[in-house]
Amino acid sequence: MAQSFLQENLNKMKHKIVVMSGKGGVGKSTVSVNLAYYLASQGKKVGLLDVDVHGPSVAKMTGIEGVRLIADENGRPIPIQVPTQPNLYVVTVASILESPDDPVVWRGPAKNGVIRQFLEEVCWPELDFLIVDCPPGTGDEPLSVIQTIGDVTGTVIVSTPQQVALLDVRKSLKFAGLLNLPVLGIVENMSGFVCPCCGETVDIFKTDGTLETAKDFETEVLGKIPLDPQVVNATDSGKPYVTSYAETTAGKAMAQIGQKVMDKAEEIANKEIVVAMPSENGMLNPHFGHTKYFTLFTVKQKEVIAEEELPVIEGSHAEVIAWLKNEKKVEVIIAGGMGDGAANACRSFGMKLFRGTGEGKCTSIIELYIAKSLTDRDGTCSGHGDGEGCSGGCHSGGGCCH
Ligand code: ADP
Repeated sequence: MAQSFLQENLNKMKHKIVVMSGKGGVGKSTVSVNLAYYLASQGKKVGLLDVDVHGPSVAKMTGIEGVRLIADENGRPIPIQVPTQPNLYVVTVASILESPDDPVVWRGPAKNGVIRQFLEEVCWPELDFLIVDCPPGTGDEPLSVIQTIGDVTGTVIVSTPQQVALLDVRKSLKFAGLLNLPVLGIVENMSGFVCPCCGETVDIFKTDGTLETAKDFETEVLGKIPLDPQVVNATDSGKPYVTSYAETTAGKAMAQIGQKVMDKAEEIANKEIVVAMPSENGMLNPHFGHTKYFTLFTVKQKEVIAEEELPVIEGSHAEVIAWLKNEKKVEVIIAGGMGDGAANACRSFGMKLFRGTGEGKCTSIIELYIAKSLTDRDGTCSGHGDGEGCSGGCHSGGGCCH
């Protein structure tokens, strides 16, 4: 089957980084733009997608204000190449508005529609990184971005050091946790003020809250960017601060953040992932709860590097899942039908689930997983033998298991 434009685009993007913040005005777009510029300055091919529908500022910050998206010979819009950094490709709501002063008055479904269109209909080139500048908060738009992309490499959360901003950061961190989204770290922006006369840093908000928050959520502070008036001048004139002011405290902090994001994304991409499927003689067993065997695949960089079919231990669903997670280091489960209880147990262990997969050879199904062609089909049906609802797809064609 031909891949959808969406899947084709997503397959062309090696690392997808979503930049979020709990509230507006903390410098999320500034961090997104400078992260994109830094990665591009290191020779990476970078896409920058601005889905901050109500306050798109990326066009101004990258010097492409007023430039409209144009279509290729097939009628698909192509991202705008930044004139001073041609390996940086930008798509923003601003590039489809008649005038930068036009307010965006779309409601939820229209906003979600445009986000999907940007990821699906735009003809993106092969990219090392896609940086997505999300609207602030934990509402519809970040959810839509994360669900549409599916395999987000990780999120960067931007905050200022004030306690009020940190309260919102905790919400963003919880939101990421609920969505199983790896958090690359927190950026503390507006972290002190560098005096333009003497160069000394003055702590304006004075708090260690960002570090404490990072510890509470087992993540790290990627860097602290001080307030620097040149940041405003650079972003307002579409100049890349991180490379134009590389020797300033803020410039060095931005470069450090960019380097950490690059290293962490590579680390995630090189990670070995163990995927389990209930099976029998190499075929997917459509009944998760009744399987006597599991086939485990170890996948690294889109290759299967190990495969074994082994008998399941005696025990409840929760015990089997705990065994898969703790002893077999399984992070992903692909199943046909699975009861709600088992699915919840998998989630509580932070495992990724793809249910509703039709019957077939496990070796063929793992290829679909690697090609990112599997989706978790979340339908439930009643009357499962053990009293649990059963996620659809126990039988080929995705029907109910009865
Ligand atoms: P958000 O995307 O969170 O709404 P922006 O990135 O648009 O925030 O930043 C808001 C304003 O603050 C912009 O005018 C930007 O230039 C300025 N700004 C952001 N970070 C800094 C900083 N470290 N020093 C000085 N000004 C900054």
